Amino acid sequence: MAFEGLTQRLQDTMAKLRRKPKVTEADLKETMRDIRLALLEADVNFKVVKDFVKQVRTRAAGADVLKGLNPAQQIVKIVNEELTKMMGEEAVALNKSDKIPTIIMMAGLQGAGKTTTAGKLALKLKNEQNARPMFIAADIYRPAAIDQLEQVAQSIEVPVFQLGTDVDPVEIVRQGLQQARDQHNDYVIIDTAGRLQIDEKLMDELVQIKTLASPDEILLVVDAMTGQNAVETAEGFNEKLDITGVVLTKLDGDTRGGAALSIRAVTGKPIKFVGQGEKMDDLDVFHPDRMASRILGMGDMLTLIEKAQKDFDEEQAQKTVEKMRENSFDFNDFLDQMAQMQKMGSMEDIMKMIPGMANNPALKNANIDPKDMEHLKAIVYSMTPAERENPDLLNPSRRRRLAAGSGRPIVEVNRMIKQFNQMKKMMKQVSNGNMSGLENMMGG
Ligand code: GDP
Repeated sequence: MAFEGLTQRLQDTMAKLRRKPKVTEADLKETMRDIRLALLEADVNFKVVKDFVKQVRTRAAGADVLKGLNPAQQIVKIVNEELTKMMGEEAVALNKSDKIPTIIMMAGLQGAGKTTTAGKLALKLKNEQNARPMFIAADIYRPAAIDQLEQVAQSIEVPVFQLGTDVDPVEIVRQGLQQARDQHNDYVIIDTAGRLQIDEKLMDELVQIKTLASPDEILLVVDAMTGQNAVETAEGFNEKLDITGVVLTKLDGDTRGGAALSIRAVTGKPIKFVGQGEKMDDLDVFHPDRMASRILGMGDMLTLIEKAQKDFDEEQAQKTVEKMRENSFDFNDFLDQMAQMQKMGSMEDIMKMIPGMANNPALKNANIDPKDMEHLKAIVYSMTPAERENPDLLNPSRRRRLAAGSGRPIVEVNRMIKQFNQMKKMMKQVSNGNMSGLENMMGG
């Protein structure tokens, strides 16, 4: 997985910090050094790292004003925000022209994933906008390139305009655009030639195509696996072509992630999409904030927050967080919690999104089948108020009474109490560890 090393190192850094009751100047310095090394090791551009660390340090030094978070949480929060900023803050949409066709020019070095990405993009446009895209095959230097584009196009049922390999690419583009206008295609995606390295001739040709086509979007495709080279490539292309966006491919691979973190800061151009696989639907809009959470190992917390914000009762959530903090979570909360969970999805899914929980073995047993929910409620309703507040009271004879009262078998009562205890244990772990994440999740 991409970013694995970086995530691990940042998490270690934060864990170290979390164990300290108070963060001294020296601790902060050490943390900043750890973060700097982690980023450099992840192949982030050194200038970007320098700015980043400076920014985090300045903010962290003045952070004691933040209420409710402990020092480690404050720093996680700052690092998360600064990572997001570094990658461009907001997702940037594909440019669209007022009149058809919208012209998208793909550029990039050979093997970066240009043709594949052109296909993925066309499919996305088809699926999401019901668009009628057309490709122009303007890479005449490798006969296989046109075949490859044809194959991709065929698999997603998109037409290709091509004139073989004997016509000048600029002329191919001119005629292709004419045909797209005649046939009312709303998007044209131009697949241009790549080279193993940036060279003058390639750039001249791309500039000529650009001049002729005036593309609405010039997407540079770069391979995330190439680290700093990807950043240099982006700089080189941007200088000549003034690109409008970047697609970072192969983020499903074992990349250290430096490219994703540096490109925006170095070129000033947004990463618009990321490729995360070889299949045609493996192209995703790049969300800097989600990527930052992913890098920090915060799972897909944002998805959860979105989900949670839709359904969540904030006051209730806040109460639960408090309870968890005090470790006084009881069966009344369990009932409330289950009602929330019913709205939000499975317990396992939710717990998985909490930092540090993804691999917790306790998760295996934490799932509650919605069908069983009513039975569980019946058991809880059979408890006395004292039992609900103090689950430790539930000795075998009381459990038998609950079974009789709820009309459920004793094994089910025992299982539920076990689940409850597991949930409580997990919550304790979470609240000792990464409360900031959970508070986010709870909308706090
Ligand atoms: P081009 O020379 O720039 O047109 O590159 P291609 O589109 O031919 O892609 C080169 C190789 O990278 C092909 O084997 C693709 O399947 C692969 N590829 C492209 N994008 C991705 C991606 O996001 N993830 C993975 N794993 N492979 C990719």
